[in-house]
Amino acid sequence: METQIRKLDYEAIDMNTIEEAGRVLKEGGLVAFPTETVYGLGGDALNPASSEKIYAAKGRPSDNPLIVHIAEKADVYRIAEEVPEQAERLMEAFWPGPLTLIFSKKDLVPDKTTGGLSTVAVRMPSDKIAAAFIRASGGFVAAPSANASGRPSTTTAAHVAEDLNGRIEMILDGGQAVIGLESTIVDVSGDLPVILRPGVITGTMIEAVIGPVETDRAVIAPDSHVRPKAPGMKYRHYAPRASLTIVEGETAAVVAAVNELTAKAEAEGKRVGIIAADETAGCYEKGLVRSLGARSREEEISRHLFEVLRGFDETDVDCIYSESFGDAAIGQAIMNRLLKAAGHRVVRV
Ligand code: AMP
Ligand code: MG
Repeated sequence: METQIRKLDYEAIDMNTIEEAGRVLKEGGLVAFPTETVYGLGGDALNPASSEKIYAAKGRPSDNPLIVHIAEKADVYRIAEEVPEQAERLMEAFWPGPLTLIFSKKDLVPDKTTGGLSTVAVRMPSDKIAAAFIRASGGFVAAPSANASGRPSTTTAAHVAEDLNGRIEMILDGGQAVIGLESTIVDVSGDLPVILRPGVITGTMIEAVIGPVETDRAVIAPDSHVRPKAPGMKYRHYAPRASLTIVEGETAAVVAAVNELTAKAEAEGKRVGIIAADETAGCYEKGLVRSLGARSREEEISRHLFEVLRGFDETDVDCIYSESFGDAAIGQAIMNRLLKAAGHRVVRV
């Protein structure tokens, strides 16, 4: 199949293109679309055949449930069996935006969409193209991140095409995703709310609205015996082809250690990549250095993480050393992705 790529302008969204994309979806096809977090691979959430196509296009295990995207807050009541009061407060505070909530599901939502679970994940994106597209598609768009399973999530239409060209009907190109990390996921279906995946909406921000929340132990733990409550979190993710190691410690010690590790690897004939920040990028003598942005503007770090991980796949580096980024307010979200990409290989100095 030939994948149509359609460029859209946020200042003047071409509604003909949006309507066309909506028709593709209603007829059972797949359309990748921009959101404020990462690009999503959309299918009709209420059509089990569409969800099957999503799993096939990504090569995603079918026990890994999809997030249902809506464009009107009221639509959550059509697919959630129960919307607890705490969830309503979170929706009021953070929707539309990068927060996904898990509810017990109504029968209207097919088991294929939820990977067989009795719960459904729901998010209302703030991105204007996403909202227009969801409305044109009938209101319920199932969308995982628009990458081949296991690879870094996509933050541009070109990255989507890299992974999914020829496998989906259409890509809506809205330029670079502003946030660059997937949504925070909070399970509000049980007695106590639990963060299943950290994101730019932090635990502190959530607690300010609803009081104490737990964080699923699997969010940071390297221990493979901890079974994550979000099924997708158990799979190896985001991994670049080269082996990635995170170096953690005081800045000067990290720079020294990375320089040393790089010199050693190069002496063994290996090509080395380095993930740094603007503040330290100039301190490395060798290796292919990529900066995620300024630590003083931490939203730059999250925006560029997946792009830089993907970028290394275009090079011939054999191993990558990365600085650690845990100090940022959104450090838990950044480190959760980076640790997964590194398969939890960390050197402490
Ligand atoms: P992605 O679509 O790539 O951002 O991944 C979606 C994430 O949401 C995966 O980690 C899923 O396991 C998680 N998820 C989706 N639906 C549910 C659900 N009903 N319960 C728990 N986690 C979910
Ligand atoms: Mg994903």
